[in-house]
Amino acid sequence: MEENKDEKMQKHLKIKKKLKTIGPILLAVGAVLAIIGFIDFFVSMGSFGTPKLFFMAFLGMPTAVAGGIITMYGYQKEVSTYIKNEAVPVFNEAGEEIAPAIKSIAKSVKDGVKEKLICECGEVNDEGSKFCKKCGKPLFKTCPYCGQEVDVDSEFCNHCGRKI
Ligand SMILES: [Zn+2]
Ligand SMILES: [Zn+2]
Repeated sequence: MEENKDEKMQKHLKIKKKLKTIGPILLAVGAVLAIIGFIDFFVSMGSFGTPKLFFMAFLGMPTAVAGGIITMYGYQKEVSTYIKNEAVPVFNEAGEEIAPAIKSIAKSVKDGVKEKLICECGEVNDEGSKFCKKCGKPLFKTCPYCGQEVDVDSEFCNHCGRKI
């Protein structure tokens, strides 16, 4: 399994190495051909002659483009490593700045729900209230097993876990 992976990796690296060589060569050859073709084209335009080497531009441009793509593919790992190395700290820094903000928002939402006591009648009572300020109903009941205060709508005591 490991050997296979290594072999595959080796092959992969070999291909990549080839691409790294072939890519720039194609790019250079293509660019030279294209430049010769264009120079010939403009020279013949100036002298009203027929461009004889313009086909080289047609040949050179796709070659250069293909070479460019191959080069990019060959150096993909380097490029992505570079991007990763450059981008990750930035992302982490942003994450570190954003995370506490999200946490505090989440906490305040949670606290807001938890600390406000909502009565059966729908009235939202302030933190620490024992009875509803609108209808006077108790906001807590006492667990018959452990005597701790639990929310009126609790089905189970959140102190001893028994069904109320
Ligand atoms: Zn009420
Ligand atoms: Zn209990």
